[in-house]
Amino acid sequence: MCGIVGYVGKRSAQDVLLDGLEKLEYRGYDSAGVALALDGGIRVVKSKGRLTQLRQKLAAQALAQSFCGIGHTRWATHGEPNDVNAHPHVSQSGDIALVHNGTIENYSVLKTALEEHGYSFKSETDTEVLVQLIDYIKSTSNCSLEEAVREALLQVEGAYAVAVVEKNDPDKLVVARKSSPLVIGVGENETFIASDATPIIGYTDQVIYLKDNEMA
Ligand code: GLU
Repeated sequence: MCGIVGYVGKRSAQDVLLDGLEKLEYRGYDSAGVALALDGGIRVVKSKGRLTQLRQKLAAQALAQSFCGIGHTRWATHGEPNDVNAHPHVSQSGDIALVHNGTIENYSVLKTALEEHGYSFKSETDTEVLVQLIDYIKSTSNCSLEEAVREALLQVEGAYAVAVVEKNDPDKLVVARKSSPLVIGVGENETFIASDATPIIGYTDQVIYLKDNEMA
């Protein structure tokens, strides 16, 4: 199992994500990372090992003014535990970042097709295929992020909970699930997401359990 957290609202996203990932530590992990929307870009910081290593890397950056982001603790299934394979993964355009819990069974077919469209891959993960596929669909269909995520997931075989953030729309998180859990916490002018309710209950008691094949 791994852990997913996300936040958009009025608090420092970095703090909410780190606290949330800590609450999900019991699920086990080999690496961790966050993607934070800031100053018109997406900043990704990730590290093999414990959350303290991620905290140290983050302390050297000035990202506290981001109010939207996603975080992940990884339990490797495709590719060894290292900094490159850690999530979040970023699309080739640099526009989209994604965290994923689960496995994408048809990733190799999808990867070959994307390579034929000029995409190259940095990691050994199945997950990177999904972020590049979303990027490809979004750029060729000129559609919204949520439409691109929906279209990409229709092509995916496997299990997933995903959270996606986009550089050009930093007030929005797109999430979806199939066979892996995902919970949404609705606060006042803020929204939380997590693999289970434990990172959310300190902030709000309004919780939505996403069902299989649902998006938000
Ligand atoms: N299959 C993905 C990977 O190996 C996600 C693993 C997870 O659920 O943490 O990176």
